[in-house]
Amino acid sequence: MSDVRNVIIIGSGPAGYTAALYTARASLKPLVFEGAVTAGGALMNTTEVENFPGFQDGIMGPELMDNMRAQSERFGAELVPDDIVAVDLSGEIKTVTDTAGTVHRAKAIIVTTGSQHRKLGLPKEDALSGRGVSWCATCDGFFFKDQDIAVIGGGDTAMEEATFLSRFAKSVTIVHRRDTLRASKAMQERAFADPKIKFVWDSEVAEIQGDQKLSGLTLRNLKTGETSELPVTGLFIAIGHDPRTELFKGQLDLDGEGYLKVEAPSTRTNLTGVFGAGDVVDHTYRQAITAAGTGCSAALDAERFLSALA
Ligand code: FAD
Repeated sequence: MSDVRNVIIIGSGPAGYTAALYTARASLKPLVFEGAVTAGGALMNTTEVENFPGFQDGIMGPELMDNMRAQSERFGAELVPDDIVAVDLSGEIKTVTDTAGTVHRAKAIIVTTGSQHRKLGLPKEDALSGRGVSWCATCDGFFFKDQDIAVIGGGDTAMEEATFLSRFAKSVTIVHRRDTLRASKAMQERAFADPKIKFVWDSEVAEIQGDQKLSGLTLRNLKTGETSELPVTGLFIAIGHDPRTELFKGQLDLDGEGYLKVEAPSTRTNLTGVFGAGDVVDHTYRQAITAAGTGCSAALDAERFLSALA
């Protein structure tokens, strides 16, 4: 059985590495499980990040994450590129199990497992991510000035992305599987009133086109089966996110959509000594800087919790 650590962080990404940096600088020697395949988090899959403060000329996503990783290591964070596959968070000493079956123990746990955007599941979707295909208008909208863009989805997020993008774009086409929207009335009205936004109803994306960059979409009408071409250089997929909380079901309180519940503005969960930060908690903002910010809060919350135990 391993020694009891002060704090174990589950998940890398801006929230996890920031929590690691702060707890390491507080001499808590954090053990960080970064994830096996996706160590570094969502920004490992993107190109340029222009809105993380401190980088005047922008920075590539993987480089930003390498910097955060190295910064936390510099102060003594122990990083393990592995997944946690089981947890027991109820007692004073919490346990987490890695893929080799080794059980690790700690007095405090910080959960920063992020969330996964839903994909269309089409060939080229991943290859053209950051090359025309995006899941975040706030992050990437600026790159699509005066271009023709498609937004996929019919909920509030899709309407919000479309109305935001219409500020920059030449045109925005919302492609939706049904003939009515799920979005709230107010969001729908805003989208309907926007002269740059058009709708293609009862349709799905059958094919994503382009080699180095997105060049267009083939759409399929679900009622008639007919296909049509939509020449766009931007594709924003807004069909939802799934927070990575499967591991914690039955132990930590989750909301109706599966996000981890915390006692905001703190990062405390329903279990003493367990804290949550980043996109696994956040429906609303889902940015690298907000994830890093709450990662910092979780580290400070954990630090205070541990010093009260001493
Ligand atoms: P994540 O970055 O998702 O990291 C969580 C990580 O935890 C996972 O990747 C995985 O490695 C690990 N993990 C999960 N489960 C386990 C487990 N069981 N055991 C161990 N590890 C686990 N935001 C911006 O501010 N600017 C941008 O330009 C921008 N561009 C984006 C481009 C793309 C393509 C995407 C997808 C997102 C973009 N975002 C951007 C959003 C930003 O990436 C996220 O808001 C941010 O990464 C969330 O950080 P996080 O630490 O909460 O989670």
